[in-house]
Amino acid sequence: VALGRSAIAALESIRATVEEHEQALGDLDAIAGDGDHGIGMRRGIEGAVAAARESDGESVQTVLTRAGEAWSEKAGGTSGALWGTAVITVGLTLGNRESYDAQDAARAVQAFADSITGLGKAELGDKTMVDALLPFAETFAAQIAGGDPVSSFDAAARAATTAAEATAELRPRKGRARPLAEKSVGHADPGAISFGLITTALAESFR
Ligand code: ADP
Ligand code: MG
Ligand code: MG
Repeated sequence: VALGRSAIAALESIRATVEEHEQALGDLDAIAGDGDHGIGMRRGIEGAVAAARESDGESVQTVLTRAGEAWSEKAGGTSGALWGTAVITVGLTLGNRESYDAQDAARAVQAFADSITGLGKAELGDKTMVDALLPFAETFAAQIAGGDPVSSFDAAARAATTAAEATAELRPRKGRARPLAEKSVGHADPGAISFGLITTALAESFR
């Protein structure tokens, strides 16, 4: 029971940061996209939290697969499909267990990253959330060898935030922002920024 509850608590910490930054994420997406990144992420995570609470709340797998399904469905849009699928994948990777160790955390992070890159096919430098995700996953994989998931997640979230801010210099090669590439230069990618915010909130919730 305790582990399903921690998964719900993690989703709730994501919801809090998405709600706090909804307007800013929308404004950023409006520069070269369609302005719906804030509202899409909010609808997705609200749906995910509601579905997680309606589930039995006992197993990590059930909580996360229900949450991911609802996230995709309620969010609509590219980022919703990516986040929803990746959350489902993490649930399936973690499965139904009594406890998890550092290796499980490493597998979950890798599964999340593989899911996003497998589905979206974006590469480093395309100016998408992948530009924050890959530094996150690399940092986590390097740090987890020390065996401490909490400090590893913290370091990875800092790497993601730095990388997300650095996307401002890039020219979009994927997604809706591509046709308005010139307008986008000088502004960070909204999906990379939301990824940095979310991992930072999760890192705080794990502390
Ligand atoms: P939409 O583009 O459908 O309106 P959102 O505005 O919610 O969806 O999300 C936009 C974000 O999605 C972008 O800022 C980018 O980070 C991410 N994104 C777009 N296409 C891809 C892709 N192929 N792979 C990974 N991320 C992507
Ligand atoms: Mg958009
Ligand atoms: Mg849209």
